[in-house]
Amino acid sequence: MADDENIENLQARIRLLARESQRFRQLLEAAPDAIMEVDRDGKIVLLNKTTERLFGYERDELLGKPVEMLIPAEARGMHARHRGQYWSKPSTRPMGTGLKLDGQRKDGTRFPVEISLSPVEFDDGPRVAAIIRDVTERRLAEEHLRSVQAAYTEELAAKNRELQLRNREVEQANQLKSEFLSGMSHELRTPLHTIIGFTELLEEELHGSLNEKQHRFVGHIHRDSQHLLALINDVLDLSKIESGRLELHRETFALDAALEEAISSVRPRAETKSIAIETQTPADRAIFADRLRFKQILYNLLSNAVKFTFVGGRIGIDVTEVGDTLEIAVQDTGIGIPADQHEAIFDKFYQIGQRQSGGLDGTGLGLAITRRLVEEHGGAIRLASELGVGSRFTFSIPVSGPAGA
Ligand code: ADP
Repeated sequence: MADDENIENLQARIRLLARESQRFRQLLEAAPDAIMEVDRDGKIVLLNKTTERLFGYERDELLGKPVEMLIPAEARGMHARHRGQYWSKPSTRPMGTGLKLDGQRKDGTRFPVEISLSPVEFDDGPRVAAIIRDVTERRLAEEHLRSVQAAYTEELAAKNRELQLRNREVEQANQLKSEFLSGMSHELRTPLHTIIGFTELLEEELHGSLNEKQHRFVGHIHRDSQHLLALINDVLDLSKIESGRLELHRETFALDAALEEAISSVRPRAETKSIAIETQTPADRAIFADRLRFKQILYNLLSNAVKFTFVGGRIGIDVTEVGDTLEIAVQDTGIGIPADQHEAIFDKFYQIGQRQSGGLDGTGLGLAITRRLVEEHGGAIRLASELGVGSRFTFSIPVSGPAGA
């Protein structure tokens, strides 16, 4: 009875073991990687289904055969040597470390693999469990990524080279422009100074008196020469402002006097067109600014006002204090500016259509310089205008200049 029980227990244990072994077998077969057991001599002792599928062999063709049959011929010698070394110091080697290896299928085709090795000790001797993974897809993805990266890097480098080239060209062109401008300005200014100097000599009548007409003529020559000179200076100014070389020399001065000086330089032209100029300013106001540049701003606005206002029109200058700033408006009853051009007229060399410009001074630079000069002072300029009614340019200047001034 006791023996029967023992036998039954034994049978139950055997069944259990068989089931476990079966389950391990299924686990092995279901693995997505090729799994093999290889003995010390490199003979395949055990393999799973994936090994057959991956390498294209039947199980029987592999069992007991050297594992080197699964790698390309030229790598076999090296592999065998490595195997020898492995056994001198067997250790677990995880996937992706060590050699970069190709597997070879029965039909001779190859594919990249990654192998992990673990030494296992059985009662019939030491073995190594090898797990072999087909990494074709991953290698392809890596290669694709590398080629995309390389193409992108190359494209970026080419763009950079192109940009650097362009930059150099722009710098050179800018340099050339500046040199040309200052060269030309010098060439133009020298004879102009001669003209201005001799007209002044004529006006002084030291070498003979002039009749009234001659006086007027000489006066015209003088004024327009001065004008031309101012224009040349404009060109120089703009290149100075644009290259950041403009320096403001701020000082405190009386607003009235500066206004009067600016007005007096356009008054003769205004008078020839019977244009009245009226001013409205707070009494005895002092202002802290670059006197010459301040007058230049006013002069530019006033001369435009005179230029674009009809005979018998009116120009007004209003000065109001708004907080810490002076708002100075130059208003005219001239031809006006279409709304869609209110921004563009501040661009350099911009002139509206085929306008009748008032003579030598039409370059389209005046407002570009004016805006920059106002901004250099920490102010802003704005325009309100209606076609056929008139224009009002208002610029602001901080009263006391920068803090502490
Ligand atoms: P310029 O007067 O030398 O042409 P500006 O930069 O001073 O250059 O002015 C640009 C353009 O803006 C002028 O050509 C003109 O068409 C327009 N403009 C400027 N001021 C006035 C104004 N007060 N009334 C009408 N149009 C003006």
